[in-house]
Amino acid sequence: MSARLEREIDTIGLMIEMFCRDHHGRDGLCSFCRELLAYARKRTRACRFGKDKPVCSACPVHCYRPEMRERIREVMRYSGPRMISRHPVLAVRHLLDKRHKTPPRLAKRETAGQTKQS
Ligand SMILES: [Zn+2]
Repeated sequence: MSARLEREIDTIGLMIEMFCRDHHGRDGLCSFCRELLAYARKRTRACRFGKDKPVCSACPVHCYRPEMRERIREVMRYSGPRMISRHPVLAVRHLLDKRHKTPPRLAKRETAGQTKQS
């Protein structure tokens, strides 16, 4: 697996941790969030784009099943903006990764969505 995919999984892990701590009040992940992380990991590894994979939020193929997609989106909505202050290096890298082979139209929509939410 490429370093970029490893990093994406790390980032997702941190985001889920942050979300779980603030919403489910646990140290470490609750089983609900652990399930989500395991699923995200599996999907990321199985991605048909392999090492050219765009970040999931910008991916034209939505491979998550609807329930998991909803859950991961909720996590991203909550933790995404917070990543910038708590894990600036990872967050910036993630932003750079986002530009990787993302069609301009999708990238633009992604940015617009984030501005509204933050
Ligand atoms: Zn949780």
